Amino acid sequence: MPQAFISHCTEDSEFAQQIASGLASSGVEVWIAPDSIHPGEEFVDAIQRGLSTTTHFVLVMSPDAFESPWVKLEMNTAIRLEREGQLLISPILYRDCKPPLLLGSYQWISYGGDSTSIVKRLIASIAPSEAPPSARRWWEPRMLTDDQASAIQQGLDEVGAETSICKLCPLSNERTIAVPGAGATGAQVMLIGEAPGPEDDKTGMPFVSAAGQFLDELLGLISIPHNSVFMTNIVKCRPNKNRDPESYEIKACSDYLDRQIALIEPKVIVTLGAHALNRIAPGHKLSSDHGQPLSVDGRIVFPMYHPAAALYRSRYRNILIKDFIDMDRYLAGQPVA
Ligand code: URA
Ligand code: SF4
Repeated sequence: MPQAFISHCTEDSEFAQQIASGLASSGVEVWIAPDSIHPGEEFVDAIQRGLSTTTHFVLVMSPDAFESPWVKLEMNTAIRLEREGQLLISPILYRDCKPPLLLGSYQWISYGGDSTSIVKRLIASIAPSEAPPSARRWWEPRMLTDDQASAIQQGLDEVGAETSICKLCPLSNERTIAVPGAGATGAQVMLIGEAPGPEDDKTGMPFVSAAGQFLDELLGLISIPHNSVFMTNIVKCRPNKNRDPESYEIKACSDYLDRQIALIEPKVIVTLGAHALNRIAPGHKLSSDHGQPLSVDGRIVFPMYHPAAALYRSRYRNILIKDFIDMDRYLAGQPVA
């Protein structure tokens, strides 16, 4: 959540409070004196605390503020922090006075008797609604505590250990080694393919074969780093001669995938190919639903064609490129072309 520090002098308290409550009602966390000073806390310490966590410094300038040593201290600290890239300064000319020279080149907002319009302008720069900061990087892995990360990793390791010796279906006779899946423990995005490819079967890592390289290009196209997602398949062992997995093999393997989904709790699942779509959202058709968000068990599911289909047919390549770009725009809260 963006935070705003409102710098003002005592004489302008009423106006500063109006700005503060306007920002707060739009979800901006506000630091304002004296309300934000903890009982017993020194004023200087409280200012430092506020400024060190704030992303926006709102300066209410007036002839009294111009003379106030506190406003000066806050302003000078804010200017230093802005140079260090820690915050942005939004100065407001509240009552007629000359802006301080230090901020002479800034875009000043002038108060014309209407605090609502000032709040609107501030919100537009503090929390632009077209692309809320929280949605801009929708794919970014969750921040986990060490304990949470190790609990998830332990669960994933257990799935890995079990698949490596699993004999629940005939694919156990066809694999070289099982490929349970890999990626970030805090991943918000899970990509689910069909079955390990030839290189994957030898290395134990998903999507290192040619289809995987194209998948990496698609992720790169929308600036998602490979290591921020979790990649796996509906069956963990490679069928011989590249055949499709049988439905009873998919069923035999389903508990492993269910456990991985429950551990990672992804916000978004991207299914790759018809088998993966049918496993996660039965009843949907890839030809009509590809690239469109579905809601399944409270998660967003994006059905995509399989990247292997694009290796030989450029039509699928173009569809996949468009669908990945549309997905990124949709999840970033931007209009989809
Ligand atoms: N590699 C995988 O891990 N899955 C696929 O579906 C294809 C290649
Ligand atoms: Fe076991 Fe799944 Fe491999 Fe079949 S595909 S042997 S169920 S791990």
